[in-house]
Amino acid sequence: MPATIVQDTLIPGLKSIYQWPSDRVFCLVIAGALVFKATAWVWYYVGGFGFQISLKMLKHHTLRPLFNFLASSFLLRTKVNSEVDKSLSSIEESLMKQDEQLTSFVKLPSKGWGEKQVIEELDLSQKVLSHSDWEGGKVSGAVYHGGKDLIHLQSQAFEKYCVANQLHPDVFPAVRKMESEVVAMVLDMFNAPKATGCGTTTSGGTESLLLACLSAKMYALHRKGCKKPEIIAPSTAHAAFEKAAYYFGITLRHAPLDPKTYKVDLKRVRRLINKNTVLLVGSAPNFPHGIVDDIEGLGKLAQQYDIPLHVDCCLGSFVIAHMERAGFKEIPPFDFRVDGVTSISCDTHKYGFAPKGSSVILYRNGELRRYQYFLSADWCGGLYGSPTLAGSRPGALVVGCWATMIHMGEQGYIDSCKQIIETTRKLKKYVQDQIPELQVVGDPLCSVVAVTSDKINVHDLSDKLTQKGWHLSALQNPPALHLAVTWLTRSAIDELTRTLHDCVKELCAHANQKSSSDGTSALYGVAGSVQTRGIVDRLLVGFLDTLYKTERDF
Ligand SMILES: *Cc1c(COP(=O)(O)O)cnc(C)c1O
Repeated sequence: MPATIVQDTLIPGLKSIYQWPSDRVFCLVIAGALVFKATAWVWYYVGGFGFQISLKMLKHHTLRPLFNFLASSFLLRTKVNSEVDKSLSSIEESLMKQDEQLTSFVKLPSKGWGEKQVIEELDLSQKVLSHSDWEGGKVSGAVYHGGKDLIHLQSQAFEKYCVANQLHPDVFPAVRKMESEVVAMVLDMFNAPKATGCGTTTSGGTESLLLACLSAKMYALHRKGCKKPEIIAPSTAHAAFEKAAYYFGITLRHAPLDPKTYKVDLKRVRRLINKNTVLLVGSAPNFPHGIVDDIEGLGKLAQQYDIPLHVDCCLGSFVIAHMERAGFKEIPPFDFRVDGVTSISCDTHKYGFAPKGSSVILYRNGELRRYQYFLSADWCGGLYGSPTLAGSRPGALVVGCWATMIHMGEQGYIDSCKQIIETTRKLKKYVQDQIPELQVVGDPLCSVVAVTSDKINVHDLSDKLTQKGWHLSALQNPPALHLAVTWLTRSAIDELTRTLHDCVKELCAHANQKSSSDGTSALYGVAGSVQTRGIVDRLLVGFLDTLYKTERDF
C-alpha cells in the first residue's frame, strides 16, 4: 500500500471513527456501562448473600489489607511479632510431646533395630505420650467404633493384603474385586439407579469432595465451555470445598443460612446461580451443626437450571443411610431418590467403621465419573490412567473396609445407627430441658448436636470441658460447640450431661470474669475480628509447621 493512501485516507478515516459521533457520547457510554456493571454487582451480591453479609465481605476486603499493613508497619511490628511468637511457643508446647525414655530419630539408625526392640518402642511411645481418652468416649467424632474385635479383624486384613496396590489390578485381582464391591454396596445403600449408578473409593472425605468438584468443573468445561467455574455451597459446607476451589481454580460462593432452621436458604442459592455455576452443594448432615439441608429443594433448583447437585454425606455416611430402616422416619429424602442429585460422598472411615483413609464418591451416571479420571496416552512410562488423586493406593485399606462392611452387615449398621441416634437424642433433650443457658443449633436429626449460648462464652465452656478430659469441637460464626456422637459415646453420655451441667453452672457463677487469655477461647477471640485475621493465618501456618518439628529444629 503506497504511503500516501495511508496518510490521505486511512489516518483521517481512523480519526473520524475515533471521534464519531463525539467524545462526550463515548464517555457517556463508558460511564453508563460502569454504572450498569456496578448495579448488577450490587444486585447479585445483596440478592445472593443479603445486605449484612455483603457489607461484611466488603469490609473484610477493604479493611483486612489495611490492618495487615498496619500490623506489619514499623510501629506495630515488634509488638505483634512478640505476641505471635508467644502464641506459637504455647502451640508448640501443647503439641510437641517428647519424653526422655524415648529415642529421638533425626537420621536413620546406622544399624536397623530388631523386631522386638521396634515393638517395645511402639508400646513405650503409646504409654508415655498417652492419647486423649477416646476409649472412654470423651472425644467428639475421631474414633467412630474402636471395638477390640473390629480392630483385630482389620489388622488381620491389613497383614494379609499389606503389599497390595490398586494401581496394579492385574497383580492383585482380589483387591479389585473387593474395591468394586465396596462401591456397589454403598451405591445400594444410597439408592443409586441400578443401570447407571457408579463411583470410586478414595482416601477420605476430602478427596471425595475434591473429585466431585473437579468432575463438575470438567463436565461444565466440556459441555458448555465454562471457563470461570463457580460452586454454590452452604456456608456450613465442609472446608474441603474451599480446598477444592483453591486447588482447581474455582470460585466458591457461600450461600447464607435460614436464621431459624440453619439449613441453606434456597432463595439465596437461587439468586447466586449464574451462567458460571457448575455445581450446587447440600450437606446431609453438615459438620458444624449436624443439620440436613433441604436436598429436595436443592434438587428442584438443580433440575430447573440444569446444574449438577452434590450431597455431602461424608459425615452422615452409614448412619443417615440406615436411619429409615432403624425406624427414624423423620429424615427427609437426601439420596439418589431425589431427582437432581448427581453425586454423593460417603465416608466409610466414619460411621462405616472402616480403618482411616477410606471414603466413597458416587455418581448418578458414568459421564460424571469419567470427568474425575486422569488420562495420559502419550507418557513414555506407558499408557497411564488413574481414577482418583493418588497414583499408588494402599490396597490393604480397601480390604480393611470391605472386611468391616461384610462383618457388620446391614443389621449391624442398623443396630449401631439406632444406638448412636438414641444417644444423640438424649443429649439434645437434656440440653433443651435441663440447661436453659445453652441453645441447641437448629433441629439436628442425625448424630451431631451443636450448642450456642446467649449467657456464657461457649469457648470458655470448651476450655473447661478440656480440663476435665472432654474434647468437643469448637466452632465459629456463630461461636458454638459440637459433639459428634460415636459408638463409644453411648457409655459416656450420662457423665457428659452431668459434666456439661456443672461446667455451665460454674461459668454462670463467674459470669463477669474475663475469658482466660489462652486456650480455645482466646484463639477464637482473635480469629473473630477483622483486625487480626492476618495474624490468625500466621498462627495456622505456625501450627502446621509445628507438625513437622523435631529435635533438628532446636
Ligand atoms: C469429615 C467430613 C468431611 C471430610 O472428611 P475427611 O475424611 O476428614 O477428609 C467432609 N464433609 C463432612 C460433612 C465431614 O464431616
